[in-house]
Amino acid sequence: MIIDDVKYRIVFDSRGNETVECEVYAGEVFGRAVAPSGASRGKIEASVVDPYKVKEVEEKVSKALIGMSVLDQEGIDRTLKEIDGTDNFSKIGGNFAIACSIAAARAASELLNIPLYTYLGGTFAKEIPYPLGNVVGGGKHAEGSTSIQEFLVIPVGARSFFEAQKINSEVHKTVKKILKEEGIFAAKGDEGAWAAQISDEKAIEILRKAIEILEKDKGVEIKIGLDFAANELWDGEKYVYKDRKLNREEQINFLLDLVENYNVLYIEDPLHEDDFEGFAEVTREIKRMGAKCFVCGDDLFATRSERIKKGAEIGAANTVLIKPNQVGTLTDTFKAVKVAKERNYEVVVSHRSGESEDNAIAHLSIAFNAKLIKTGIVGGERVAKLNELIRIEEVMGCRMVRL
Ligand code: PGA
Ligand code: ZN
Repeated sequence: MIIDDVKYRIVFDSRGNETVECEVYAGEVFGRAVAPSGASRGKIEASVVDPYKVKEVEEKVSKALIGMSVLDQEGIDRTLKEIDGTDNFSKIGGNFAIACSIAAARAASELLNIPLYTYLGGTFAKEIPYPLGNVVGGGKHAEGSTSIQEFLVIPVGARSFFEAQKINSEVHKTVKKILKEEGIFAAKGDEGAWAAQISDEKAIEILRKAIEILEKDKGVEIKIGLDFAANELWDGEKYVYKDRKLNREEQINFLLDLVENYNVLYIEDPLHEDDFEGFAEVTREIKRMGAKCFVCGDDLFATRSERIKKGAEIGAANTVLIKPNQVGTLTDTFKAVKVAKERNYEVVVSHRSGESEDNAIAHLSIAFNAKLIKTGIVGGERVAKLNELIRIEEVMGCRMVRL
């Protein structure tokens, strides 16, 4: 079935900013997708082009794609790269490209009358990831709050996705209750995590309290995750926190202490995006401590297979954060997943801080057999993905990944 039209329009994201939505038409069916947007963006991420260039890009993309088979995902993605002509989508924008790439896959799954996760993951798509819930946050997502960007939870003992998400949302509510009891005002940051004028240590302490209450109440183990988004802390010489400045060695010691003392299961971007060696050291040290911990590269890898290859050569991190809009096409996203898995790295599929009702990443998390999906806890744009996973779980039966 050939593509007979490609349409773009400007819509809004969860921050109230304009973003682009794409529709790909093929005969009786069509697929739609919305580009998300990040706030703590890595320097090698695919470029974002002004949504108001919509007519110009639509003309180029539709001219190139009309007449192609909607089932030829690789061909579609190659064509998007060709009409752009640069290696980071600086002409047509990674935002325009990823919306089209996912819209085409959606149209193809409609055409074949199968779910998107089956279309993309084939028969390997069998397990459901655990939700990595963002409970307290600061950094670029809520300036004035904590320096560490995200304090997360993983309900490792939950037996179903539904149960896992229920626990995450109860941790979120309990943290608010504790903050209130302590007389601390809290608002929500970009991803719905609580933002308050507290130190990083205080955030962990409150999170631990909430976890303790829930663990007792539910009889289920809950672990902590941390996203330092260290690029945003790094000033070229030091990691700059609200209340202190740490050099590289101090930063490494600080995070290793946290992993050891708080039994942290997930740690993301603990160092800035070019410190591959530092990531290798952290990964080695954590292993030596005997702690099981996902050491995840977000800005470090930027969903780029060549960066993952480079990191794997020296053992930098053991997990790759997969954000399709960092690289601009589904094919390149796939390539990153493949390269990661071949090197025994785990994958975690992730939202961006600016999101929409689009739920494609829920399907990608299944298709890629991700261990975790990072898509927040509350807010319509986060719940869109979580609820889609609840629907998928109903169809597939409860088959959670093994962590
Ligand atoms: P971003 O942050 O979407 O604002 O870049 C999310 C993350 O760092 O994981
Ligand atoms: Zn991150």
